[in-house]
Amino acid sequence: MNIPFIDFKKLHDPIKEEINTAIQKIIDNNSFILGKAVSDFENEFAKAHDVKHCIGVSSGTDANHLALWALGIKAGDEVIIPANTFIATAWGATLCGATPVFVDCDSESYNIDPKKIEEIITPKTKAIVAVHLYGQPAEMEELKKIADKHNLFLIEDAAQSHIAEYKGRKIGGLSRVASFSFYPGKNLGAFGEGGAVTTNDDEIALKVKMLRDHGSVKKYYHESYGHNYRMEGIQGAVLGVKLKYLKDWTQKRRAAAKKYIELLKDVKQIKLPSELSDLSHVYHLFVIQTPDRDNLQKFLNENEISNGLHYPIPLHLQKCFEHLGYKKGDFPVTEKLADECLSLPMFPHLTDEQIEFVCNKIKEFYKE
Ligand SMILES: *Cc1c(COP(=O)(O)O)cnc(C)c1O
Repeated sequence: MNIPFIDFKKLHDPIKEEINTAIQKIIDNNSFILGKAVSDFENEFAKAHDVKHCIGVSSGTDANHLALWALGIKAGDEVIIPANTFIATAWGATLCGATPVFVDCDSESYNIDPKKIEEIITPKTKAIVAVHLYGQPAEMEELKKIADKHNLFLIEDAAQSHIAEYKGRKIGGLSRVASFSFYPGKNLGAFGEGGAVTTNDDEIALKVKMLRDHGSVKKYYHESYGHNYRMEGIQGAVLGVKLKYLKDWTQKRRAAAKKYIELLKDVKQIKLPSELSDLSHVYHLFVIQTPDRDNLQKFLNENEISNGLHYPIPLHLQKCFEHLGYKKGDFPVTEKLADECLSLPMFPHLTDEQIEFVCNKIKEFYKE
């Protein structure tokens, strides 16, 4: 049985007509950039996260940049970032000219370890970026305490965690400003690139709106530097349709994760994702950890079970950050995870039969 990592066909086929109609409307109205479909989507997305403002932008990476740019992060500033994340989290800081300062992750949540933050705060530190990695919210209460104590901005990179909950509240409004990605493979994906910034702060919202559109509110009047980070009309239209199904898709992801955990809990050689109490994990990825990762991956590949590594090289060991002077051994939890992580197929329409097939193959591997 060939099992994809994500099955887009199963996701989109049932809503194809609805999406086609929405796209056709954009073409008929020539509303290719921003427009009503985008602002309608922004309103609905903000509502879904109990947050006041949502600003649709061109990608999650751009959203990361805008979040820090709107806060005034600049050259000479330091921004604290988990070493275990996708590279784009760090681009937010580097695009502002600031320096990313990395921190190890927690061995259970795989998110930034709040216990290791205070020791790296310097007079130059301006912000902490909490990534809700793999779909599980970071420890926001602990992080907020630290941020408040040291007068730092707290920001969420929510690219992997649409509508996840932390202690009964939706992520995206738990910090000063949050960024989302609608890369096609994310829990809510566009038909191309897309992203969003959310915030409860009116002033930040206005700044982000200006920065995404050449530093202007009124066309051809530029009040500040800016960029073209606008969302496309077609993406807004597609996202508006797909958002209606996100809750259902998220429940399906959670059910698939539950099934994996049930079937794999007795396999001693692998560590399963732990869902911490009071949080609702939205399983963007289902990441297991095993010392025998490379051989298990080879075995899954031979059996046509798609899989992934998130992430094989931690940020502090990336060539692009060589000049920052980090070395192997600096962040042991993250480095071990990089060697041992393996992401199993995860998407809303994963069937019990497919999950059983994957789990039986994993068990077969360990019996040999
Ligand atoms: C995907 C992702 C991004 C970047 O989003 P793009 O839309 O691909 O630019 C940023 N941060 C994290 C944690 C991501 O997973």
